[in-house]
Amino acid sequence: DTAMYAAKRAGRGRYQLFTAELDTRARDAELRRAVENNELVVHFQPAADFAEDRVVAVEALVRWNHPQRGLLMPDAFIDLAEETGAIVGVGEWVLREACRQAAEWRATIPAAADILLSVNLSPQQAAQTGLVEIVRGILADTGFPAKRLILELTESVVLQPDEATVARLTALREMGIRIAVDDFGTGYAALSYLRRLPVSILKIDRSFVTGIDEDPKAYAIAEAVVRLGHAFGMHVVAEGIETIAQTRRLLEMGCYLGQGFLFHRPQSGEAIAALLRDAGTPLRWAAFGRELAR
Ligand code: C2E
Ligand code: MG
Ligand code: MG
Ligand code: MG
Repeated sequence: DTAMYAAKRAGRGRYQLFTAELDTRARDAELRRAVENNELVVHFQPAADFAEDRVVAVEALVRWNHPQRGLLMPDAFIDLAEETGAIVGVGEWVLREACRQAAEWRATIPAAADILLSVNLSPQQAAQTGLVEIVRGILADTGFPAKRLILELTESVVLQPDEATVARLTALREMGIRIAVDDFGTGYAALSYLRRLPVSILKIDRSFVTGIDEDPKAYAIAEAVVRLGHAFGMHVVAEGIETIAQTRRLLEMGCYLGQGFLFHRPQSGEAIAALLRDAGTPLRWAAFGRELAR
């Protein structure tokens, strides 16, 4: 309080700066405690092959079950976590928890034997020296196979990779893990970087998918991404599909993989397990796995 009083005396601008910093520090500490107190939760959004109407993968998406504020979505805390470095602990926890759950589904639900699991990797994690060993350890501990894991990187990491990051991603790829570029199309157009990296999957950003049916420019961008991805031998996944019209447009341009509220919203692990167990849900994971493995 004396510090606050001193800051106050130093002038209003300094005071505001000071409280902003205090606030960041307090929120950072709260998030780090949340990891230890098991307040984080992983939800999963299925990804579909909509040409064949089947679920092909699930993406792990973190939520914070805050004791006072209720269930918080990532936009309420991921940016801060990235800024303070707390994301490294959060991301490691998410990877472990997602692999643990997915390994359990594989072991107990026949239709989930070849489940593909996608986990978001933050820029700070991609830059982490011990990343490869951490991932290897989590796979060993949970028994989830590397060949069924996809790590999603944002363009900011992929477009400016330093040598060490290229080496880390290459080591992960050599273990059998696939690398996806998330929110593709929102970064700089330095596409040449894609040639240097072991990328298997491009995910077209939702902002292009949203306009695909009405805006010829959004359509042209999505189509260019699909062509580029396929020319590179990659799988192309459309994000944020909400309408049948968008789905038709995507099929028209040769894209048949996607995620969106039209198919499935992100949901709890229990709900996903029920979906996998439901005999009425056509789930031919194995076929997609074979295609991906080619
Ligand atoms: P993302 O990886 O691009 O994930 C997709 C986001 O789009 C999810 O939001 C999902 O709920 C939302 N979405 C999916 N389909 C639709 C749709 O049809 N319409 C609309 N309007 N939205 C749709 P969510 O769960 O809020 O996550 C937001 C972002 O937070 C993620 O974007 C990802 O960048 C980040 N994030 C989530 N979990 C993690 C994590 O464990 N680690 C890191 N580093 N980032 C994470
Ligand atoms: Mg993602
Ligand atoms: Mg995405
Ligand atoms: Mg996105």
